[in-house]
Amino acid sequence: MTSFCIHGVGVSSGIAIGHAHLVSNALLEVVHYQLPQHLINDEIIRFSNAIFTVKQDLGKINSGLRKNAPAELSAFIGTHLMMLEDKSLSEIPKDIIKNERCNAEWAIKLQMDDIVEQFELIEDEYLRERKQDVIQVVERVIKVLLGHPSQLSTEQQTSALNEERKLILVAHDISPADAIQFKQHEFAAFITDVGGITSHTAILARSLNIPSIVALQKARDLIRDGELIIVDGSQGVVIVNPDKNILTEYKLRQEQWELEQQKLQRIKSTKAITLDGTSIDLYANIEVPEDVVAVSASGATGIGLYRTEFLFMNRREMPDEEEQFIAYKTVAEAMKGAVVIIRTLDLGADKQMNPDTVVTCANPALGLRAIRYCLSEPQIFHTQLRALLRASHFGNIKILIPMLSTLSELRQTKLLLERAKISLRKQNIAFNENIALGGMIEIPAAAINADAFAKELDFLSIGTNDLIQYTLAIDRTDDAVAHLYNPLHPSVLKLISMTIKAGEKLGKSVSVCGEMAGDAKLTKLLIGMGLRQLSMHPSHILTVKQQILHSQLSKLSDNARKILSLADIEKIEPLVAKFNAPSDLRLK
Ligand code: PEP
Ligand code: MG
Repeated sequence: MTSFCIHGVGVSSGIAIGHAHLVSNALLEVVHYQLPQHLINDEIIRFSNAIFTVKQDLGKINSGLRKNAPAELSAFIGTHLMMLEDKSLSEIPKDIIKNERCNAEWAIKLQMDDIVEQFELIEDEYLRERKQDVIQVVERVIKVLLGHPSQLSTEQQTSALNEERKLILVAHDISPADAIQFKQHEFAAFITDVGGITSHTAILARSLNIPSIVALQKARDLIRDGELIIVDGSQGVVIVNPDKNILTEYKLRQEQWELEQQKLQRIKSTKAITLDGTSIDLYANIEVPEDVVAVSASGATGIGLYRTEFLFMNRREMPDEEEQFIAYKTVAEAMKGAVVIIRTLDLGADKQMNPDTVVTCANPALGLRAIRYCLSEPQIFHTQLRALLRASHFGNIKILIPMLSTLSELRQTKLLLERAKISLRKQNIAFNENIALGGMIEIPAAAINADAFAKELDFLSIGTNDLIQYTLAIDRTDDAVAHLYNPLHPSVLKLISMTIKAGEKLGKSVSVCGEMAGDAKLTKLLIGMGLRQLSMHPSHILTVKQQILHSQLSKLSDNARKILSLADIEKIEPLVAKFNAPSDLRLK
């Protein structure tokens, strides 16, 4: 077995050693697990039911086609239906389940690979391309299997997956909707071929609290299922089939890293105060209510960003008011009176409800997302606002609006919020009448006009992930331009500084809740610029706190002023590195 290295962009630190578990493609999470003999029959029934459901779905689509729909559409569905009738797809996978004692998804995928291989041998190009039909129809079946109510519980899957060895998830690409499902699995690391450092997939990878690397280009092709790999998330390096010496070296480094993490636990309940006595609020970012467990364990003193859109993913129907209310209330109550900033729906761009949604607009990041989407769907927004208001009776909830660019969006939002309040008053439902309303500053237009937003809002929160994307015109999900994505770009720093000043002038709090807040190399700069509130993934809280505990604010303000006066990124970077002297980082 040849040993080799692949380099990518590390998005979550730490070292993992385990066996590769290849994900079949971007849309689907096809895991392979073995079943005990007594579950085999159930699995075959599950498979047959899925085939039946897909046939029904296709039948419905066919009969729902408009009369003037192109004839190819009906023929296309007919082909898929025929394929499902064929023994090779409807029967052989059952034999595979029986013989290999494997799950249905894996069985039909194996069979699909076999059929596709045969198609590949056909000389006629048109016929050869029919393999796409096989892939598409199998994808349909797998999707039904994955979402089927009789699907094996995640606990069963997880224990089957982790029976003997640590698994490292290797994928070409994973949508945020897919990634959120991985929270239920226990992978040791997560690596993908594509993705930018602040793509939502990377953010989720980070929130899994396991080493992760993106932008590895060809990892999915080069690594084989089951191969032993080392993932060094801090360096962005994957080592495939390491030899004995390398393995020993990395085991040692892994131990050291874990030891450092343990040491950090010592400052968990220490207040985040600089050497000259300024207190900094360190809040956590969460995606799902279950994340509050990690928040409590991290020592965060509140939640600075709850991204509610993840509640809307991987499902056909939007969550209703009651379901949303319970989710928000659960978080608010779990935080026992500490601040919980809940952001309204930020769907769109790389965050779609379903991982297989085909985005048709040319520039989804510039399209109908976040507040723009909510204002265009007032009923959906109304439902969420009512749920948030109701939950505000049970804790210290504040509402945060994403992607504001104009004051009129803010004013429309306020009207809708008032309308939601009126409807609750009419029903005598309790809520916090004075609930605070904040806005995300993540579009340059909003940062430049931050004064005006600060006047009409209770607080501001800087979303640096999008602010950098829109200021530098760099798609945050595109690894081809990831090297240009730089938080230290002078224009980005100036926009952040303008927002902080606007908040200071109007006495409104300003925080950063983008990934910059969790990067310990930037902590001194950010607090030197005047930030007193940072919100980040829980796993970053302690490293950031450690920086704060070693900071002399008066010195940092001078340093930040120097940095802000520079127009050249090449001069800024070394200066920031200098302010982070390694001696400051060590725990005493
Ligand atoms: C941001 O843009 O920085 C942010 C916090 O929001 P999101 O990453 O969800 O777009
Ligand atoms: Mg954003």
